[in-house]
Amino acid sequence: MKPAAFAYHRPTSVAEAVARLAEYEGTARVLAGGQSMVPMLNMRLWRPSALIDINEVDELDDVRVDGERTVIGALVRYSTLERSALIAERLPLLARVVRHIGDRQVRNRGTVGGSLVQGDPTGEMPLACLVLGAVVTAVGPAGSRRIPLAELYEGSYATVLAPEELVTAVEFPAHPQHVAFREVTRKHNDFALLSVVATGDRAADGRWGNVRIALGGVADSPALATAAAALLEGSELADADLLAAAEAALEVVDPPSDIRASAEYRRHLVPVHVRRVLADLRDAGTGPPADGAAETDPATGGAKP
Ligand SMILES: Cc1cc2nc3c(=O)[nH]c(=O)nc-3n(C[C@H](O)[C@H](O)[C@H](O)COP(=O)(O)OP(=O)(O)OC[C@H]3O[C@@H](n4cnc5c(N)ncnc54)[C@H](O)[C@@H]3O)c2cc1C
Repeated sequence: MKPAAFAYHRPTSVAEAVARLAEYEGTARVLAGGQSMVPMLNMRLWRPSALIDINEVDELDDVRVDGERTVIGALVRYSTLERSALIAERLPLLARVVRHIGDRQVRNRGTVGGSLVQGDPTGEMPLACLVLGAVVTAVGPAGSRRIPLAELYEGSYATVLAPEELVTAVEFPAHPQHVAFREVTRKHNDFALLSVVATGDRAADGRWGNVRIALGGVADSPALATAAAALLEGSELADADLLAAAEAALEVVDPPSDIRASAEYRRHLVPVHVRRVLADLRDAGTGPPADGAAETDPATGGAKP
């Protein structure tokens, strides 16, 4: 199918983009990488009156260092994160999860801002931003506001943003010492059935602090397993601790059933993979980093690169 008719604008500044969005009173949409937008237009599931194409807004396309913080512009592409030496040094989790997103074409066009606003419950970028404690900046006709990732979503594919608001940047605090990530997919390039990230800092006496665990694909939006992580504070991540935390992680899941997996299967996967990711985290803190990388779905043998 072809999209329904729409007006098209190509602003060159944030101010102009926001003015355009305001002009259409909530009926226009931002076009960034188009990786979700274009299929939705072609299927006529979205019929915006106008597209505000932000690809010429250069101020949205940079990565900045501000003391301990790293600020990534909304228009920065997945492939930039994949290759950036700065990101590898300051936010290695992002470089790692991006390799699990779609294929080369999707990563060349897809943007950080588009991914966060799209809010796919299985999305790697929302998951990583959540576990890292990122904060989104959004600019609208009434000015600018900062929204912690943990408060960005109000449901599946639904953010708290007003239609006239433009996401301009995502800001990250200092990266944790250690991270571990795994995801389960049915086949190469598919969306995740389940993804798990754990982060934390290991003290010289072997005890762990600032442990955070986040899960993707098992609730309306990525979820922090706060109670599970709290069980691990001050522990040495002994096997018994991992088992207890893995079971506790089930408290935050409410998995969907869809064409990829049943809710029951996803629920089964959660403690298995939370425990494995925590074991990866422990290994990362005590020895050569274990590359948790892609996890194969035993049902199909499919794995992501
Ligand atoms: C074949 C294929 C495979 C994929 N696999 C994966 C995968 O494995 N994992 C994954 O997470 N995703 C996957 N995706 C989806 C993709 O990662 C993202 O949805 C996508 O890249 C969104 O970013 P975009 O820049 O392309 O946004 P667009 O498609 O341009 O826009 C998406 C939405 O965000 C809004 N928007 C965009 N930028 C802004 C902004 N700055 N401010 C306000 N609103 C904005 C748009 O209006 C629209 O509503 C896949 C997509 C395809 C086509």
